[in-house]
Amino acid sequence: MTLPIIDTNYFTAFLVDLLNIPSPTGFAEPAIAFVEKELSKYKQLQLSRTRKGALVAKWDPSTRSGRKSDLPPVALTAHVDTLGAVVKEIKPNGRLKLSRIGGIQWNTVETEGVWVFASNGEKIRGSVLVDTASGHVYGAAGSETPRNDAHMEVRLDARTTSEKETRELGINIGDCVAFDPRVEVTNGFIRSRFLDDKACVANLVAAIKSMADSGQGPVRSVYFLISNYEEVGHGAAAGIPSDVAELVTVDMAVVGDGQESDEFHATLCIKDSGGPYHEGLNKKMRALAEQHNIPYKTDVYPFYGSDGEAFWRAGGDVALSLIGPGIDASHNYERAHMDGLNATTNWVMAYLLD
Ligand SMILES: [Zn+2]
Repeated sequence: MTLPIIDTNYFTAFLVDLLNIPSPTGFAEPAIAFVEKELSKYKQLQLSRTRKGALVAKWDPSTRSGRKSDLPPVALTAHVDTLGAVVKEIKPNGRLKLSRIGGIQWNTVETEGVWVFASNGEKIRGSVLVDTASGHVYGAAGSETPRNDAHMEVRLDARTTSEKETRELGINIGDCVAFDPRVEVTNGFIRSRFLDDKACVANLVAAIKSMADSGQGPVRSVYFLISNYEEVGHGAAAGIPSDVAELVTVDMAVVGDGQESDEFHATLCIKDSGGPYHEGLNKKMRALAEQHNIPYKTDVYPFYGSDGEAFWRAGGDVALSLIGPGIDASHNYERAHMDGLNATTNWVMAYLLD
């Protein structure tokens, strides 16, 4: 069996659009709604939402073929939520202190543009600065200031020099703050914040499109769970039906010193901070990659937990694997390459069609 062709232009356009939708954990609804709208084009899929707001797309092949597969259903999951922040305090000078979502490192967003989503519906532009930002005021001391919650602030692009004026802009404590993704596509590379895990959402959507366009479909029922609380650890803890036998988590692979993964391959993660994945399903994923000449690596991730493990911890009884494209500088200014991204889409299709 040869795999359907991937529409890479579609993949890239969809991914760029998704990257440009701000969706920090807790504020991911616009991204979920965007994926929902895209998947609603496929009449093969039944769409639903969990109470937590995640999107579930079920592809039941028996509704078309009339034949019921006796194989139990399987599931794949990827997450649209990202790192971000909320307004923690409004300072006497009108600037904002933030509380981070998902543990973004301050040094990775210093000078980054942000949108503050005020609870009255207004969007206010700003940027992240250390509170000793001016080189002509603080000199070398500015570089010695610790980059932490106490010293990092948002300077709003609005006329405010007091807490009162900032509150008059409509800003309240708890309002969402989203960091600019800075998406660029060059030479087969995609550079952006939050490729983790929007790249893999695009892998799932592109796989669905390729299978649907070629008139093919999964050999058994499959649930696609697009989760919305992964970055805080409990995304896929709910939303996978109990009759699902296997869960393939599709999330970024770790690239850096000492890692086997790179941007030109997909990776099967054998073990991460949550321990080893399921040996039997891992064997099956490796065999599929070999059979379809999918460029892949195996790896161990040092500071990493996945949505599949969230489901395991919540009591989910499934065989579990984790695959995904290599992402350089993860949770920082991330980068992926089409080779690793296509390898992941192909792996998803091989899993579903074989
Ligand atoms: Zn992720």
